[in-house]
Amino acid sequence: MNTKIVKAFGTEAAHVPLHLMNIKRRELLPHDVEMDILYCGICHSDLHQVRNEFGGATYPIVPGHEIVGKVTRVGGQVKTFKPGEMAAIGCIVDSCGKCEYCEDDLEQFCDEGVTFSFNSPDKHLGGTTSGGFSETYVAKEKYVLQVPKILDLASAAPLLCAGITVYSPLKHWQAGPGKKVGIIGIGGLGHLAIKIAKAMGAHVVVFTTSPSKVEDAKRLGADEAVVSTDAEQLKQYNRKMHFIIDTVSAKHDVNTYLNLLRHDGAVVLVGLPPEALEVRAFSIVTGRRSFSGSNIGGIAETQEMLNFCGEHNITAEVEVIPIQQVNEAFKRLLKGDVRYRFVVDMASLKN
Ligand SMILES: [Zn+2]
Ligand SMILES: [Zn+2]
Repeated sequence: MNTKIVKAFGTEAAHVPLHLMNIKRRELLPHDVEMDILYCGICHSDLHQVRNEFGGATYPIVPGHEIVGKVTRVGGQVKTFKPGEMAAIGCIVDSCGKCEYCEDDLEQFCDEGVTFSFNSPDKHLGGTTSGGFSETYVAKEKYVLQVPKILDLASAAPLLCAGITVYSPLKHWQAGPGKKVGIIGIGGLGHLAIKIAKAMGAHVVVFTTSPSKVEDAKRLGADEAVVSTDAEQLKQYNRKMHFIIDTVSAKHDVNTYLNLLRHDGAVVLVGLPPEALEVRAFSIVTGRRSFSGSNIGGIAETQEMLNFCGEHNITAEVEVIPIQQVNEAFKRLLKGDVRYRFVVDMASLKN
């Protein structure tokens, strides 16, 4: 297969900082779209995978899966994109296309396993896929998304993973008027969950360990914000919440939050703590409650989320950095020192 060499930022090992390297992109197949990457968000799972915290990482790794860019070329069979248009790529760049999950637009659960935008077996080139910390991306049209024109491109990038990760469970558990939706943690995921749940019409209560984020939660649209380390404050929400999105990526006590649910309510984990979490029997048998989880969404739902964000002008609050600062950004992300998402200006890769 013909390939093209492009610049990227990646690493050969967990302890080696990201640095400039060359990678291959495939030459266009008839259904492929090629884009010049303009912006790429930094997600917690980029960091987890670069550091091999889930195990199974294959190096070299070029991370990045919140990708927006400009279409440069399209294959002969491509119908929905033209050169010069804006486009986006999120977590998924391929799937089998024929299993029951793919047929139901749930590619994220594909029987054969989806191809993620980075560190997934590459069906075309062998090796593993390289992500958005690079000059270009080539993907099948079906997995390339339209970006509503109204959205600022840099701050729209985090919608591609963080946005769909919270939109999908908000939709599934029917956030809307009359529903009390809790959101644990105000980071990349949490701050978008506030905006999206509010736009869906829910009553939003934020639980944060940082008193300094209470005002920010309200500015972002939360109806109420509670310091979760204050047991007295928390007690007022016992048996009040319809469901709660848990965005915390470190070990924490979920039983505290299960007790805030009404009957049939659910705490839905979207953060990815590497350690196991403990659920006590009485936290769930009482009130027929559930502890559940959710991870990204299918391609159709991701497009639906982008359109919804376009209608409500929802984007992430971002700090835009050049790629040369990505290692520093990873360190700050670990400390939670970003409000609320780093986005790499990929033009800096040309420097
Ligand atoms: Zn992500
Ligand atoms: Zn499939």
